[in-house]
Amino acid sequence: MKVLCTERRCGWHGLEAEVLQAANPFDVDDQINGCPKCHSVDSIVVACDEPDCWQQSTCGTPTPSGYRNTCGKHVPKASDALAQLEGRTA
Ligand SMILES: [Zn+2]
Ligand SMILES: [Zn+2]
Repeated sequence: MKVLCTERRCGWHGLEAEVLQAANPFDVDDQINGCPKCHSVDSIVVACDEPDCWQQSTCGTPTPSGYRNTCGKHVPKASDALAQLEGRTA
């Protein structure tokens, strides 16, 4: 999964596997994550699924090929999803 740092001065983006993780000192069952570049805590958010797009994901859309997290610009069109569900191709 693609993720990015929301700290304005940082601008880091990468893969979920690169994010720093640690046990939450206030809740042992919880984990906190940190940006590998600026080290701020809990500033990591999911990025758009579209290749080459690093906007923050604001929409989650179920599609026949799986759940997609996208920015507002790359939301899968409902009509496309429906066409795939019915086995039609555009
Ligand atoms: Zn950062
Ligand atoms: Zn996007």
